Amino acid sequence: TIVLSDKINNLSESATIKMAKLGRELTAKGVNVISLSFGEPDFPTPNHIKEAAKKAMDDNYTYYSPVPGYPDLRKAIVNKLKEENNLDYDISQIVVSTGAKQSLANVIMCLINPGDEVIIPTPYWVSYSEMVKLADGESVFIDATIESDFKISAAELEAAITPKTKLFMFSSPCNPTGSMYSKDELESLAKVFEKYPNIYILSDEIYEHINFTGKHESIAQFDSIKDRVIVVNGFSKAYAMTGWRVGYLAANAAIAAATDKLQGQITSGTCSIAQRAALAAYEGGLESVLLMRDAFLKRRGIVYNLLKDIPGVKTNLPEGAFYFFPDISSFFGKKTETGEVIKDSADMVLYLLNTGHVATVGGDSFGNNDCIRFSYAASEENLIEALKRIKNALAKLQ
Ligand code: PLP
Repeated sequence: TIVLSDKINNLSESATIKMAKLGRELTAKGVNVISLSFGEPDFPTPNHIKEAAKKAMDDNYTYYSPVPGYPDLRKAIVNKLKEENNLDYDISQIVVSTGAKQSLANVIMCLINPGDEVIIPTPYWVSYSEMVKLADGESVFIDATIESDFKISAAELEAAITPKTKLFMFSSPCNPTGSMYSKDELESLAKVFEKYPNIYILSDEIYEHINFTGKHESIAQFDSIKDRVIVVNGFSKAYAMTGWRVGYLAANAAIAAATDKLQGQITSGTCSIAQRAALAAYEGGLESVLLMRDAFLKRRGIVYNLLKDIPGVKTNLPEGAFYFFPDISSFFGKKTETGEVIKDSADMVLYLLNTGHVATVGGDSFGNNDCIRFSYAASEENLIEALKRIKNALAKLQ
């Protein structure tokens, strides 16, 4: 037998990837499965971005790039942060990586020593706590429920802080809940951080453009803490570029330099062609982004109305991203037609997959066992059918 490292043995398998796999297995058996488990826009990458990639190959952008990214792409990111977010950064503060996921992992690896505490509000994106584990840090969770629209208060934040707290990490708009912190809410959190100058704030803003309230608010806008905020963003969700693998961070130059050093040892610069495509995305304006956002907004409305109509399901109205995170705990303790008891969210998603033929993800892997997550990055037709199947499957539970 192969002896693997404790690190890898202690790591959980990504729940979203696992559910997608189970869905595909059922599909391979001839079952018509509607997969709502993955967090991926269903739109193709806009044409002008694809064309830039083709041109990049013809122009021989086929060599190693500088580790933190091509200077013109980093400059375009500086311009974007200024124009769209009114945030001032220098190019030395920007590091481009192989997806926002790598940017997040880079920051955690660069800041966390064994035993350092990382505060994570739940529900949170599945990979956060696993990245903290890899760095031998300790995740400290603050449980937010549907009653507070899955957001934490300044008082809850302050109560979770200890002398070991090194980092706070969160996403707004949030995966899995779609919740967004308002400017006032962010300011009240920032006021807490003002009192604790040794805590860093990792702000995952990958869903920035899938925002139904209008303006994106970043916690980096508060000057008193900006130097300790690491903004992570990327191209996957806004520009339908999940497979291209381009993300970035904007941070204090010393943190940026540390992630550059780390990346230089493990991956080098991200794909040269993908970087040229990302540059075209930022130079091409927001037209395609807004079209996709509008499509998500329409789908959100369709799904919200259908979901509200299912007895026993509680839902919030997500303000961003493309997920619903309904509370289905009223079904716990009920039995399926074959007599199995639904005990938790993991049982529920298997039941919905096997009986309803809809793939979703259990809330347990996002730190909330009362809920399930499903994506509405799917066609309207599939969404309507999926919600019908979920409603019928739930009605069969006794
Ligand atoms: N952060 C959140 C909250 C996400 O949901 C995702 C992707 O699902 C990422 C980061 C990673 O994005 P990327 O594709 O840029 O690595």
